[in-house]
Amino acid sequence: MIRFLSLASGSSGNCYFFTDGAVAFMIDAGVGPRIAQKRLAPYGLTLNDLDFILITHDHIDHIKALGIISSKFSKPIYTTEKLKGALMNHSCTRGKVGGNIKVINTLEETEICGVKVVPFPVPHDATETVGYYIEFGGKKIVIVTDCASVTPEVIEFSEKADVLIFEANYDEEMLANGPYPQLLKIRIANGGSGHLSNTQSAAALKEIYCGRKGELSHVFLCHLSDNNNTQQIAYETVNKALAEVGAEGVRLECLKRGRPSELYEL
Ligand SMILES: [Zn+2]
Ligand SMILES: [Zn+2]
Repeated sequence: MIRFLSLASGSSGNCYFFTDGAVAFMIDAGVGPRIAQKRLAPYGLTLNDLDFILITHDHIDHIKALGIISSKFSKPIYTTEKLKGALMNHSCTRGKVGGNIKVINTLEETEICGVKVVPFPVPHDATETVGYYIEFGGKKIVIVTDCASVTPEVIEFSEKADVLIFEANYDEEMLANGPYPQLLKIRIANGGSGHLSNTQSAAALKEIYCGRKGELSHVFLCHLSDNNNTQQIAYETVNKALAEVGAEGVRLECLKRGRPSELYEL
């Protein structure tokens, strides 16, 4: 059995913790160690348990605590060559991560502490962005976050998932009627934000469900916008789309911004 806890999800910080009791790892490090420890503690978990950290990209909401966690706990960080270069120079990580970084290649399978990991490309406005396909504890887990548009590769990897963490960043109507300046609205609506709308996410999830190769038992919507989305709207938009293709058996959840999720047992 896998235990999964989202420590935070959204533009103020992203950090996802997984363990099967024998191996533990984290995807992204956008939550400081003090808060992370506090959120892990009720479940008897700690950052000391970590065997490694995976990084999706070099935006601050995903790496702001990586330098401090890496230097304090000395955990190996796995990421691509390009992202390694970016992390060596980023103000949050410069001088704090070099010795701990191990390079993995996109579209190549690497085994880390018995966990099979394949990073795959995701279009986004960072130095480089990857999603992860992960085989762990008898499950196939896929994460797609900070994704400007749904590519054939995103679909291909997501279709293999038993457990899918997938971005639903903004509601198109809330964005149109919200407080953002017109130019910024146009940029976001035209895909220039580097994030998926609820509608884009819903359409992709429908396609993924119909082409699924795995069980697809759980879909966790992640990186919801504070200004242009609500958990209810994201949930309803995606749930309606999934119902249209008979996917009522899939457990659909929204991960919370700035707060931990419940502890999911997968
Ligand atoms: Zn982000
Ligand atoms: Zn980003």
